[in-house]
Amino acid sequence: MIATTYTERDAAISRINAAGHMPVSLYLSDIRAWYVTEEGKDMLAIAREKDVIQWAKDRGIFDHSNPESQHIKTCEEVRELSEALAIHDRPEIKDALGDITVTLILQAHMHGWTLGECLESAYQVIKNRKGRMVGGLFVKEE
Ligand SMILES: [Mg+2]
Repeated sequence: MIATTYTERDAAISRINAAGHMPVSLYLSDIRAWYVTEEGKDMLAIAREKDVIQWAKDRGIFDHSNPESQHIKTCEEVRELSEALAIHDRPEIKDALGDITVTLILQAHMHGWTLGECLESAYQVIKNRKGRMVGGLFVKEE
């Protein structure tokens, strides 16, 4: 299925979401590329990052907020994640992870980056890092 409009793209995204990893080909008209199955799910995150930024623009968030107040929102959502983890509430854990991501997307945009760029930057730093597991946490080698 080739989606050439945002409406068609959203319909394709809905089908992918409904099917888990159904082999639906998805055309994102704004980034001019094909994505299939698992890759399509990866690209869903990029498409949604754009949607979140548009959502925030439509609500004037960038005109009336700043990185510091976004950071407060991130901390609130992290607290919600802590609470959900404490009671092993998977739907709330998922909700909190999504909300945290939204706040990070918005803050990245305020600094002139995409969250994907920040992730790529972090990955390039950690990809060859050596270390060991200590008490359930990865401790990097100095
Ligand atoms: Mg929340």
